Amino acid sequence: MQKDIDMRITPQQASDMEKIRGIFSSLSGIPLKEINSVRILRRSIDARQRNIFVNLRVRGYVNEEQDEPAFASVCYPDVKDCPQAIVVGAGPAGLFAALRLIELGVRPVVIERGKNVRDRKRDTALMNREHIVNPESNYCFGEGGAGAYSDGKLYTRSKKRGNVEKILNVFCRHGADPSILVDAHPHIGTDRLPGIIEKMRLRIMQSGGEVHFETRMDKLIIENGVVKGIETNRGETFSGQVILATGHSARDVYYMLHKQKIRMEAKGLAVGFRVEHPSRLIDRIQYHCKEGRGEFLPAAEYSFAVQAGGRGVYSFCMCPGGTVVPSASGPRQVVVNGMSSSNRGSRWSNSGIVVEIRPEDFPEYAKYRELSLLKFVEDLEELAWLHGGKTQVAPAQCLCDFVNGKTSSSLPETSYVPGIVSSPMHEWAPGFVSSRLQEAFKKIGDSYKGYLANEALLLGVESRTSSPVRILRDGETMQHVEMEGLYPCGEGAGYAGGIVSAAMDGERCAEALAVKMKKK
Ligand SMILES: Cc1cc2nc3c(=O)[nH]c(=O)nc-3n(C[C@H](O)[C@H](O)[C@H](O)COP(=O)(O)OP(=O)(O)OC[C@H]3O[C@@H](n4cnc5c(N)ncnc54)[C@H](O)[C@@H]3O)c2cc1C
Repeated sequence: MQKDIDMRITPQQASDMEKIRGIFSSLSGIPLKEINSVRILRRSIDARQRNIFVNLRVRGYVNEEQDEPAFASVCYPDVKDCPQAIVVGAGPAGLFAALRLIELGVRPVVIERGKNVRDRKRDTALMNREHIVNPESNYCFGEGGAGAYSDGKLYTRSKKRGNVEKILNVFCRHGADPSILVDAHPHIGTDRLPGIIEKMRLRIMQSGGEVHFETRMDKLIIENGVVKGIETNRGETFSGQVILATGHSARDVYYMLHKQKIRMEAKGLAVGFRVEHPSRLIDRIQYHCKEGRGEFLPAAEYSFAVQAGGRGVYSFCMCPGGTVVPSASGPRQVVVNGMSSSNRGSRWSNSGIVVEIRPEDFPEYAKYRELSLLKFVEDLEELAWLHGGKTQVAPAQCLCDFVNGKTSSSLPETSYVPGIVSSPMHEWAPGFVSSRLQEAFKKIGDSYKGYLANEALLLGVESRTSSPVRILRDGETMQHVEMEGLYPCGEGAGYAGGIVSAAMDGERCAEALAVKMKKK
């Protein structure tokens, strides 16, 4: 017999399966000797009160062995001789689209401008140490996309858009720890993601698909209003329907689409800064304990959303025990983002703090029409570059000084390897953004006592929260509204914001493409 029970226990008890088995026995009244084993089905931390609890849903195996697999398996047939489709971009959207195409009997040909996930690491190291930005290989471009050297948080709010569980199972099938199926806020970590991504690529190739690195799509091949394939920077052409999963950092793709008269619209997004605190300070605030998180709790997370000046200001991509990384993908840009390793063991915790912006907020950019917010974001990133070191050195300011409109005379230590320089960010950031951030930080400081600390640092700029452009598509066929054979997909097309939602969108585009192929 199997029995499921919910329990609320201390972090120390939750760290020991034998203790959990004992608690299961006393809660269920089933003698311990009859409970062969227990398995955790759901786990979340409740840190709302002074005493922290872990909520568990536990399955007990009573007088029977546990023989359920840790994760569901997926079958990938050989598609070597099947009709092919092109997937541009090997980020989460592209990789999951390719794997789903295989499941559905279509041969994916994946085109990726960047390098494979291992070689890519050398370029991110060069960016950190020597400030060299390779426009084809960086934290945004290359195998695994922006998701590869990320925090690897797999939490999404867009659960209605697809099967989150399926996505997590595919990650497990390629080497992720099955704990991601259990945790309320699953996380993989940047040290483990590359191995998983590599296995996904091998799966695509072993199933008969192709993966081309250092190959950039430069043009769509369009005949009589139908997309027939792509041309690359190497002078090659690839034929087939096209899943366009190029992410929102590939600005050249938007300009190319604009030139090829593919219909798009300007889309709102959120921009701001990244704030970094010592992780022990965040632990103390969130776990209400002077001693910090202790032995049994992970680095503390936070998330908030407040209203300021009639707009939402919220935390974005919070990385407990993480580092701030340079996420530019071209010259004259400084962009920051955050990542963390699986143990979330760094001395710092960081998060984007961003303000919602809409195209109508910046009438001076209206002349750029559908590309208005793209131009706005490009200018913002250039401002950060100009006010940083005209390298990857990021402009920075103590959080309290930003709130009080003062230039910082000294800055605290940071995890950001390229370095920081003191800059009056309240002066040069667009007033629409900085005034709302100042107001929001005051509100946050009132409810999170200790958050507005002297050791809290702001780094600029956080500008890649989502796409500033939407490539218009039909909700059912997933094809572009005017261009048959083109499937705008993932974050770059404006239909996802994060690893899991991009992966789900990749699957949906693959399914729609396979349906169309079968109809022909
Ligand atoms: C540092 C960092 C940390 C992050 N942390 C998290 C996190 O913890 N959790 C989370 O959910 N999200 C996180 N994100 C966001 C997440 O990575 C993205 O939402 C996600 O990767 C979007 O997936 P995508 O496949 O749509 O696009 P991308 O991941 O951007 O992939 C697009 C791919 O297309 C390729 N490409 C672009 N143009 C071309 C072309 N012309 N020809 C061929 N290939 C092309 C690019 O090289 C890239 O590999 C993070 C992002 C960054 C930068």
